[in-house]
Amino acid sequence: MRILVVEDEPRLRELLSRNLTREGYQVEAVEDGFVGFERAKVSQFDLILLDVMLPTMSGLEICMRLKRLKNSTPILMLTARDSVDDRVAGLDAGADDYLVKPFAFVELAARLRALLRRKSEGETVLRVGDLSLDAARREATRGARTIELTAREFLLLEHLMKNAGRVLTRDQILAAVWPEDFDGSSNIVDTYVHYLRDKIDTKGKAPLIRTVRGVGYALGA
Ligand code: CA
Repeated sequence: MRILVVEDEPRLRELLSRNLTREGYQVEAVEDGFVGFERAKVSQFDLILLDVMLPTMSGLEICMRLKRLKNSTPILMLTARDSVDDRVAGLDAGADDYLVKPFAFVELAARLRALLRRKSEGETVLRVGDLSLDAARREATRGARTIELTAREFLLLEHLMKNAGRVLTRDQILAAVWPEDFDGSSNIVDTYVHYLRDKIDTKGKAPLIRTVRGVGYALGA
């Protein structure tokens, strides 16, 4: 488990590094906001511990930017004051949880474990309405019905579910689901959406994958 710590207060930063390393986490600690943002952007962490008041870029700004980039790494904010405004601002910015300074390390450790657990559960099963997709088992279910998918259908459905509610163009889907050297036409997307609809739609229920005329497809609402 890799944790990024962004904290400018040297003593707290060192304390966090030392204690988290002792707990078995792989820790990278930085003091500067912008550096922290860049690290979070280019490297894959399992969790980010983020101070609010930081030099060059605030914790709130980092949080908002990462969420805008669809970075799904859980963020635990360390807020300096016990002010409702700070906590609300943190959660509004997309933080998954917050802890008010000063805090006991045992409490921080417990919050981390809870966030990491939530993350690993969330990652294996995607859900949209009564449709769920289990990435570990490579299996879809709609209500009580199990649906068998080919590898390509699985990848396509996974991509649509991860972007549920968003309209995706054929080219976007093609780039995400087909290999880079695929040189066929984007009509292949239509063909596979058709296969998927045959498998996942239930008679008498609204189709889950919508065609957005002239644009592409969207799954869900
Ligand atoms: Ca600070």
